[in-house]
Parts: sequence; C-alpha cells; structure tokens
Amino acid sequence: MSEASLVANWDDVVSRLCEIGREFYSRGWVYGTSGNFSARISVDPLRLAITSSGLDKGALSPGHILEIDSAACVLRGIGRPSAETSLHLVLVQQAAAGAVLHTHSIWSTLLSDRWAAQGGLVLEGYEMLKGLAGIVTHEHREWVPIIENSQDYAALSAALSSVLADYPNCHGVLLRKHGLYTWGCDLAEARRHVEILEFLFEAEARRQLANQP
Ligand SMILES: [Zn+2]
Repeated sequence: MSEASLVANWDDVVSRLCEIGREFYSRGWVYGTSGNFSARISVDPLRLAITSSGLDKGALSPGHILEIDSAACVLRGIGRPSAETSLHLVLVQQAAAGAVLHTHSIWSTLLSDRWAAQGGLVLEGYEMLKGLAGIVTHEHREWVPIIENSQDYAALSAALSSVLADYPNCHGVLLRKHGLYTWGCDLAEARRHVEILEFLFEAEARRQLANQP
C-alpha cells in the first residue's frame, strides 16, 4: 500500500476505537455487546479498521479490531466482522465517511419507534445542533431518517443507501427499535456526532414526554 493512500495510522486508530468503546459503554450507549465502530485506514484500496463481532465494547483491546477490505474480507486480526459491516461500507462509500459509529441507546431506541411511521424524526431549534458538521445556527431543521429494522443485512444496506440518496445532508440514520448510525470525516467528528445526537434524542424524547396529555 502506498503512503499516499493511507489516511490513518493503524495503531492510532485501534487505540482510539478501544477508547471510544470504553467511553460509550460507560455512557450507556453500547450495553451488552451492542454497537460497532469503524474507521477508514486507506482510501484506495479501501481498508477499514472495524470492531470484531460479539464483543463487550467496554473491554475492547487492540486484538479485537479487524482490518477489512471493501468486500468485508478480513485482512488482519482474528474473528469475524459484525453482521452490520455492510452498513459501515455503505456509509464509507456513499457518504464518504472516514469513520462510522453505531450505538444502541435507550433514547434513540424509543424515538426510532415513536417516529418510524413518519419515516424520520425532526430535531429543530436546539443550540446543540451546531455540533453537527456544517451547521452554524440553532435555526436548523435536522431530519434523521428512520429505517425499519431487519436481520436481512443486504436489505438493510439497500434501505440505508436509499435514504442517503434521498437525504444527502443528514448526519445520522436510526434503525427502528435498534439504534443510531452516524459518521464523520474522522473518528473525532463521528464521536462528536454521537454525543450531539444522543444529547438531542434525550432532550427531544423528554420534551415530547413532558408535553403528553
Ligand atoms: Zn446494532
């Protein structure tokens, strides 16, 4: 692999993914082996560092991170990639994500069901929206598409690809009663997007609950 195609150092990315696992577990976003994380190591050929399947994200170590190619074949590490790897590849290839983070929080799970029939959820008027890349004012209306959950990952990938085509400016997508996919140009931006969106999901869900008759 030429130096020019490398976009991130393997050891740095692996250690960052492990840190993110510990932090996200402690914040209640990836309980019980849920969630998965990836970061692009090189663009051409495409190489991703991704968490191996079925692990406690609060106890990740460097050996739990796999290197995969664009066909999800494992090139480095022992284990198999998550069943949701195809969704990571869609986001890296279609949304040009440098990193993809997937979480299963309580608030995103509740909202993704509440608004599923509408196909998405609006987050509007919150100062914290400015933490999303490219957003400079609270007077922003963020549409978070919601897609039906499935164990058919080829179908889920096609559904994700379709909503990305329809909403190319979105910063995250919810899977119904499942969780959040968000991404960024790198791990730092993707991590910030998780933090911002999870804050906004909790704020919005609590607001809706408080306004219920
Ligand atoms: Zn999941």
